[in-house]
Amino acid sequence: MRFALLLLILLALALPAVLLAAPGDSEPPPAPRQPLPPVATSTPAPLPPVATPEPTPEPGRPARPSRAVGLPYDGRLVRGRQLPESGPGWATWDPIRKRVGNRGWRRWGTGRLLHVLRTVLGDYARRHPDAPPVLVGDLSRPRGGDFGPRFGGIGHASHQNGLDADVYYPRVDRRLRRPFHPDHVDRAAAQELVDAFVRAGAQYVFVGPSLGLRGPSGVVQPLGNHDDHLHVRLRG
Ligand SMILES: [Zn+2]
Repeated sequence: MRFALLLLILLALALPAVLLAAPGDSEPPPAPRQPLPPVATSTPAPLPPVATPEPTPEPGRPARPSRAVGLPYDGRLVRGRQLPESGPGWATWDPIRKRVGNRGWRRWGTGRLLHVLRTVLGDYARRHPDAPPVLVGDLSRPRGGDFGPRFGGIGHASHQNGLDADVYYPRVDRRLRRPFHPDHVDRAAAQELVDAFVRAGAQYVFVGPSLGLRGPSGVVQPLGNHDDHLHVRLRG
């Protein structure tokens, strides 16, 4: 009896403590007031890259054909067309930021160059439905002109009048990035792309000297710094 009474007293003493403690067990203490989201005074968001104004076609009229002016290494582009960021069987690669999706101002060319790229790469994708997209690198700037080192990396001596495009060789491991080493290159796939650009009427296809890629002499030419991509040039 005394024991039961003692138990009752203990329970009566402990109960309020349990009740008081219960909310603290399930709920975290109230969070301190959240500071307001940072206002863009101290760290302003980066501005979108300022590019040469993009030519806009006049509404209601069919766009006049684009025109490659001058030479690939000393020229400009009139009424160029922008290659989209990706399409059926291909994607673009930013060679400076080293990532998929090239910046818009780096992918302008003549309508004919865009047509050749889409046709060759679309056909390749149809022949290899399981292959990852082929990566397209730089074309020209919106109005062409200098595309040298001030635009990043080693720059381009040519790529000035919308007739040049870089296309990365597919990789043996099928990863969607440029082949950083000749051993990464799927040489059979690379040769197939070289052949296709030759058939499409390229004036030149510059290829890496380490890869053993072949083609009509005078058209397919080995050139340094091309072990990761081929460079296709159309006639002016
Ligand atoms: Zn090139």
